Amino acid sequence: MELLKQRILKDGRISGTDILKVDMFLNHQIDIDLLNEMGKEFYRLFQSWDITKILTVEASGIAIACIAAQYFKVPVLFAKKCESRNLDSDVYQSKVYSFTKEKDYLIRVSKKYLLPSDRILIIDDFLANGRAALGLIDICEQAGAVPCGVGIAIEKGYQRGRKLIEEKGVKVEALAVIDSMDEHTGINFS
Ligand code: 5GP
Repeated sequence: MELLKQRILKDGRISGTDILKVDMFLNHQIDIDLLNEMGKEFYRLFQSWDITKILTVEASGIAIACIAAQYFKVPVLFAKKCESRNLDSDVYQSKVYSFTKEKDYLIRVSKKYLLPSDRILIIDDFLANGRAALGLIDICEQAGAVPCGVGIAIEKGYQRGRKLIEEKGVKVEALAVIDSMDEHTGINFS
């Protein structure tokens, strides 16, 4: 998606060797006009899949998922990362290794909101090694729901996330795929 690529080139910042910071428009301050265009594009890519629910993980996936959901006209369900007294005890859960925090954490979804009849679109801001998306696919499988696809804003195509998800038979679509990135040569898209 050209609009997103141009925005990454303008406002994205490379942090260390492997993290792209997009706090200016996606992960901290949020550009709603851009998210609207991304939502339309996710709808175009997945409209024929009879999606009944969008599933994401807190926190940065939520805004993207909510705006996309307006085009699909379906609810958003987000997996919680923190243990909370607000969350039912009857949950599906999966262990995820965090790319940015470099440690494992649990994601949880109440059994009440994920049904065997659900056809799920998973949405997230980044795809790196696929751990977050695979954790969400695992939760869908526990519920007997169908993980129809994974929609990603920014994929780092040189990492192995897409391969691992596609090996599970789940379709992956990314709006911007980064082929390489470093502080000297900048960001290159595929
Ligand atoms: P994965 O689970 O695919 O290894 O990593 C994806 C998750 O890690 C996303 O939910 C995202 O929050 C975070 N992440 C991975 N790479 C980046 C990155 O380059 N920049 C930012 N801001 N987050 C990232």
